Amino acid sequence: MTTAFLTHPDCLDHLTPSGHPERVERLEAILARIDTPEFSGLDRIEAPLGTVDQVLLAHPLAYYTRIESSVPDSGIVPLDADTYLSPGSLNAALRGVGAAAKAVDLVLDGMADNAFCATRPPGHHAETSTAMGFCLFGNVAIAAKHAIQIRGLDRVAIVDFDVHHGNGTQDLVWNDPGIFFASTHQMPLYPGTGYPSDRGAHNNILNVPLNSGADGSALINAYRQSILPAVRRFKPELLIISAGFDGHRADPLAGLDFETSDFSEVTRLLCDFAAEACDGRVVSVLEGGYDLEALADSVAAHLKVLMEHDR
Ligand SMILES: [Zn+2]
Repeated sequence: MTTAFLTHPDCLDHLTPSGHPERVERLEAILARIDTPEFSGLDRIEAPLGTVDQVLLAHPLAYYTRIESSVPDSGIVPLDADTYLSPGSLNAALRGVGAAAKAVDLVLDGMADNAFCATRPPGHHAETSTAMGFCLFGNVAIAAKHAIQIRGLDRVAIVDFDVHHGNGTQDLVWNDPGIFFASTHQMPLYPGTGYPSDRGAHNNILNVPLNSGADGSALINAYRQSILPAVRRFKPELLIISAGFDGHRADPLAGLDFETSDFSEVTRLLCDFAAEACDGRVVSVLEGGYDLEALADSVAAHLKVLMEHDR
């Protein structure tokens, strides 16, 4: 089998104002970086358009309708200080939803060993009824709820190594006993959430903040010492990764000191864990990463490790 790589040209049609870090060039850099023979083994799959029903797994209809009706006919409009909509934004965001749900299906159906969704805008800051932090819909939370409510799994774990706390994912899964959410993130930093005292309604949240300047060894230690033991106790049937690469030392939005190789190492740790805990079922979804070269290199490193892990 193979690693599925899901993306769609619609994800290049979500436009943000000049100078905005979450820009079209991010996905273009990733696609250019993997347009080489070493990635010819990826199973490239066109991301389907997510359905309204999939969005409603995590968000109320009133929120979906508000986003839909806010999409402009032309130009770019703000939803908050850093989250924008352009005419192509709804379809771009729905491709992110569709990709994440399709990736779950491919992995559960044995059509792929594991999967990576190269979509934008990202999703982990989108709360139940609030778009924020460049995010519109909670892609990974929707994917986890799809796995449970539509595909019949009992327990799904989400791990988030983006440099920012996944406040949206935390909000969307807080009351869901079938979903365990663990996050490493720089603190203090946007969005200001992610305290270890936040444990979820079912003790299903684990936040492990990292100090500014923390390097890859701090990330690996957090996974080895607290996150993976907790996820193991949860006994997940599927592991979903909120894969943000803005912890890289070159990233302009944050102050961690990860190198590209650290993303290889954490990916290897997670894939090895999944091989033993949940038959290797891993679905990874792109979140942040704003230095184009560091982002492309880090995604490539992440993909190489996913491709090494046959189930
Ligand atoms: Zn981020």
